[in-house]
Amino acid sequence: MLQTNKNIQNLKPSATLAINQKVQELRAKGKQVYHFGFGQSPFPIHHTIVKALQNNASNNHYLPTLGLHELQNAIAYFLKHHQNISEVNRIFIGPGSKELLYQTLLILEGTFLIPKGSWVSYLPQIKSKNGDYVILNTTFKNSFKLTPEVLEHYCNNHKTIQKTLILNSPNNPTGAVYTAVEYSALAKVCSKHNLIVLSDEIYSQINYTNHCAPSISNYYPERTIVFGGLSKVFSAGGYRLGFMTLPKKLEALHPLYKSLFSETFSAVASPIQYAAIEAYAYNDDLQQYIFNSKTILSGIANFVYSSLNQYAIEVVPTNGGFYTMIGFNTFREKLKKRGIYTNTDLATFILEEYQVALLPGSDFYLEDNELFLRLAFVDFDGEKVITAFQKENLVDQNFIKKYCPNIFNGIIRIQKFVKELEQ
Ligand code: PLP
Repeated sequence: MLQTNKNIQNLKPSATLAINQKVQELRAKGKQVYHFGFGQSPFPIHHTIVKALQNNASNNHYLPTLGLHELQNAIAYFLKHHQNISEVNRIFIGPGSKELLYQTLLILEGTFLIPKGSWVSYLPQIKSKNGDYVILNTTFKNSFKLTPEVLEHYCNNHKTIQKTLILNSPNNPTGAVYTAVEYSALAKVCSKHNLIVLSDEIYSQINYTNHCAPSISNYYPERTIVFGGLSKVFSAGGYRLGFMTLPKKLEALHPLYKSLFSETFSAVASPIQYAAIEAYAYNDDLQQYIFNSKTILSGIANFVYSSLNQYAIEVVPTNGGFYTMIGFNTFREKLKKRGIYTNTDLATFILEEYQVALLPGSDFYLEDNELFLRLAFVDFDGEKVITAFQKENLVDQNFIKKYCPNIFNGIIRIQKFVKELEQ
């Protein structure tokens, strides 16, 4: 009998994996599946970044543990000028923001606060070290964004422990973006209770109404660690490069990161770090490319919202990223009659009966009986779509029907599901 770490044994496979497996099975049987489950940037990586990687392929040296200085400088400049972040003196580079977040969770003790409707990996990472956590309540009405009142209430009742709040905006799974006003109000509570904030800003520049999303670090720079990387904004998830900023007030953590990085991954691959310098130099052509890609996503988000909102489906308006949460709570009684009680039942039913893959809200810390599902709208050929957009310049229903047929037809099938429920 193998002896293994109980904390890791206890990580149950997420419902997401089960849905994705089912999608593969259905596809293997030759069935058409409308895949709203998978959340990867659909666009090709910009050619200037690929070129930089090619030019540095022969670089076989280990780089400094915390990252290449030229890259740290490029990210600092980028954060100041394109993400409105000023606390940029200590930037660490890691193999994806996920790993940097994990190492941060390993380093910090105390309780981690996760708003309901947050990214799937935060909690398993905490559980893998048997850490303490609490899920803070949020509501559909407020697009599952944390309010200062809920945070204040929790902090008032748990004064003595160290608390670390994890925020993510633009948000996966909801598509919500915290406004500057909302962040400023939350920051007051964070400051009053001396919280540490982990601000996951991996989708920052995919903000539909401005060049980047507001950051809580503007209102609470002293104890906010910002995370970002190449995966979403630059469509380079497979490059595995992320960064984090460490504020001066948390300088005491610096040697801990250095030791942990050096004893685990050593340093990020050298050619990738050199390629990332090109990304963060953010030349005009690249900026235009990212602007075009988010304009396309915004057009699709509008289509999804208006197509589903008219059917008594609850839909969180997407303001950035490429997700929304949709809810079927108004159909609860009708769903019960079909044996559907939980969001996992619902996701399974819609996949089996309508060939539409959506992820259950329970993977994002909603209660099982809250009938919300995450919808990722990236099942299209990004290269084809961005080329078409350069000619047509408008992402309306006709454009989506022509160039993103899986999105278009998948939404029609969700409408069909609801219409048939009504009968
Ligand atoms: N944070 C959020 C909210 C994400 O959606 C993802 C990727 O899915 C990540 C972090 C991880 O990104 P990376 O590729 O930098 O590890």
